[in-house]
Amino acid sequence: MSGAKRVDPRRPYRIGPNGLRRIVLGETGAGDLAVGASRNSEAPRAKPLRTQVAATSWHMAIAHAYQGRLDDHAREAIAAAAILAASETGVIAVILGAFHENAAALGADKVVIVDDLDAARFEPRREEGVVEALINDYQPEHIFMPDNALGDGDLGRRLIAKLRASAATHVSEISGKHVAVGWSGGGCLADAPLPRFVLLQAGAVDSNLPFIGAGEVLSVPLAADVKDVCRDLGLEATETGSIALEEADFIVSAGNGVTNVATLEKLAGCFDAAVGASRVAVDDGKFPRSKQIGASGKSVSATTYIAVGISGAVQHLQGIKACRHVIAINSDPGAPIIKRADLTVVGDAEEVMQALIARVGQARAQSETPEGQV
Ligand SMILES: Cc1cc2nc3c(=O)[nH]c(=O)nc-3n(C[C@H](O)[C@H](O)[C@H](O)COP(=O)(O)OP(=O)(O)OC[C@H]3O[C@@H](n4cnc5c(N)ncnc54)[C@H](O)[C@@H]3O)c2cc1C
Repeated sequence: MSGAKRVDPRRPYRIGPNGLRRIVLGETGAGDLAVGASRNSEAPRAKPLRTQVAATSWHMAIAHAYQGRLDDHAREAIAAAAILAASETGVIAVILGAFHENAAALGADKVVIVDDLDAARFEPRREEGVVEALINDYQPEHIFMPDNALGDGDLGRRLIAKLRASAATHVSEISGKHVAVGWSGGGCLADAPLPRFVLLQAGAVDSNLPFIGAGEVLSVPLAADVKDVCRDLGLEATETGSIALEEADFIVSAGNGVTNVATLEKLAGCFDAAVGASRVAVDDGKFPRSKQIGASGKSVSATTYIAVGISGAVQHLQGIKACRHVIAINSDPGAPIIKRADLTVVGDAEEVMQALIARVGQARAQSETPEGQV
């Protein structure tokens, strides 16, 4: 990449749900489509089809689904493919793993669901074979993928190497003509013309689209005779305490509002969750530095993140950008974490944690009671 330039703080942005600036696409292939304009306007109105013109070329987005769903990062990659598509460019989304959500809402015209290639199995050759066949069939001009550590980033790099395609990874800004990536510690952006493969950082694109795609679901026969050089030995259960925070799917995290660490650890144990902490809680000596989440700690991507007594300072939010569901427990209804949270319990941390532990215990006892007994 060449042509490094300084980040322009006035470039188009929107404040995202995490309170951080989210760069918006500067232009779209479909003309001057105001991608951001519909966000706050009459949300329930039915959305129009992106295009009704027959496709003469294609954009492709590829992502793994997890437990039948796509995370926001994957949706952003598909949204990028759709936003940058001209009216005669079709959008095909290739979803690896089962997918049970609304396909049209993704903005794609065709959705290929490869049920038995989910991220829980490691079958790189079979995966490559299926995706490569689709790339050969559709010859997409551009291919968009989430740049994550959940299989997509790895698959994307393997495809780039195999197809010797032009590519950009860690893309944080994108338009119909260029991509930009952080450079020199993130203080500058380096840009380049839009390449064939675009591996996007989370948050680079707004996945809340003002249109829908045709959403035609296709199934693909798997390449049965692919001999993989890797053998998948299956999943093995691990002690939650021994899982690196970056890999944990459920995290219960403590901030300065937590006075009783034992209660927090008990709550984490109830959910089989890993324990994290804010910098203040770590500086206080309540948790080791390895538990710190945020700008100067770890970046996590849990499906569920419970923030107990954490204010939601921008440095902490930076570490939980990729978390899917954030639940806040805080005594202050004006705490910044609430803007980022999908669900907030306003109350005293100790009382709410004790109540939760009791409810989980009750629910477990009920589910273990044999039928007919009370
Ligand atoms: C360069 C730099 C890097 C940084 N890196 C990080 C980082 O990696 N990670 C990080 O976390 N921070 C980082 N920080 C610090 C960050 O700015 C905040 O100071 C920190 O995140 C605040 O931690 P906190 O929310 O736990 O504490 P506070 O800001 O003290 O917030 C405590 C919260 O708990 C609530 N509360 C209080 N009592 C109760 C109660 N009884 N029940 C329920 N809620 C209660 C309060 O309403 C408040 O919202 C960094 C700062 C700088 C300058």
